[in-house]
Formats: sequence, structure tokens, C-alpha cells
Amino acid sequence: MPELPELEILRINLNNRIKGKRIGRPTIINPKAISGDPNLLENKKIEEVMRRGKWILFSLDKLYLSFHLRLNGYIFLLDYGEPDDYDCAILPVDGEYLHFGDPRRLAQMKITEDVDSFIEELGIDPLSSDFTLEYLDRTLKKKRTNIKTFLMDQDIISGIGNTYADEILFSARINPTRLCQSLSRDEVESLYKSIKEILEEALKLGGTSIEEFTNLISGERGFEPKVHRREGEPCEVCETPIVMIKIGGRGTYYCPKCQR
Ligand SMILES: [Zn+2]
Repeated sequence: MPELPELEILRINLNNRIKGKRIGRPTIINPKAISGDPNLLENKKIEEVMRRGKWILFSLDKLYLSFHLRLNGYIFLLDYGEPDDYDCAILPVDGEYLHFGDPRRLAQMKITEDVDSFIEELGIDPLSSDFTLEYLDRTLKKKRTNIKTFLMDQDIISGIGNTYADEILFSARINPTRLCQSLSRDEVESLYKSIKEILEEALKLGGTSIEEFTNLISGERGFEPKVHRREGEPCEVCETPIVMIKIGGRGTYYCPKCQR
């Protein structure tokens, strides 16, 4: 599943490749993945590729085209317009073809006149300046869940998934089972710093290696998780074996000695 750093890199690369180009006549293969009228897209110019949380948004002339990839969705920019196995829609873009699809058929494509109607419900983007220490502190005090569940709650902070939640908590030395309200002020500050640092580092390094969801992220993906999916391996700080537990059904990896 692409998380925020990977989606931000996808956005930047998409913007570099297709900004200013025009969309041709779309081919719709799976109408259930699409809401709004795809015929409106024809001949529209892509003014900007933006991102709000995990939504990738194309700003068109008085229209928005939005994608949410969920767990297994993909966006490929290819030189052919014939559908591949799991494609939901193909959009010609000045001689190239944007293939959008999902083998699990959960990804969504929306054509709307505004984006606020479905995006306002999102939590704050942790890479934006709206994400402040005070916001984090205030929302933590209101929640009765554990900290791992909190970090992955898209209504609070938008874009952190399972991998980066584990890495953030390792960096902040906080045990993932801790209740939000039990965090001291120092721990909240450390958590805030770790959220920013881990996501910015991942962004700088090209994200982490995950299943292919795009051909628009090229080169090395240099972000190496220190605990996520490293069960049994020694912690790089204290050499205690990393353990795995389930929180909310998701594999959660941490160092039982460093993370208290
Ligand atoms: Zn350790």
C-alpha cells in the first residue's frame, strides 16, 4: 500500500510528466470504480497535479479528476492504450496513456466540480504546516485508543499507514500499545518530531520498496524500515530481537526494550 511519501513522489513525477497536457477520450473498463461523468474529461487541460492526504488530484479547467489507490490500486503512464488485466480506466494524455486500475477493485476515480465535498473529512496532512505540535497534543488528549491506531486514523492525520507508523514509534521510542492519553509532554514532542523526520526522510530517499503501483517512481527507493517486517532481527540500538504483535488486525513491529 503506498503511503504518504510514495504518493507525494508519485504526485511530483506525474506533475512533471503531464502538467499542461490535454486528456483525450477516456476508455472506461470498470464503471463501478468511477464516479462522475468521464465524458467531461475529454479535451481538458491538466493545470496541476495536487495531493490532499492520499488523494491524487488533477486540477482541470473548472473540474477535478481525483484518484484514491486504496491498498492495491495503481497508476501507470504507458505508450499503449490497450487495456491490461486489472485496468478500470485509460486516459490518453498527449500520445501517452494513463492506466488506472486495481486487482481488488477498491481504488476510486472521481470526476467532480469541487473537491472539498469529499476531501474535507480528511485529517491534517503531516507534511503541511497545519500539522503542529499543538494539534497533535490536543487530539491525543481526546482519544482513548492506543497510539498505533491513532497514527493510522486517517480522520486525524492523513496518509500514515502501517509501515511508517511502526517506524515513527520506533524513532520516538514509544511502545505501540500505549494509550494516547498516557503520553507525557516530552513523549508527545518526541512523537511530533519523529512523524516529521521519518516522513521527510522517506520523501527524500524515494520512499520504501513496496509492490509496484506506478512506473513513475524511478531509481532507488532508499528508505529502509528499522522495525517494520523485521521480526526476530536485532534492534539496531540495543540488539533485542524485534517482536511482532497484532493491533487492530495489522502486524505491528517494535523493540520491546527501546519502546516503553
Ligand atoms: Zn532496541
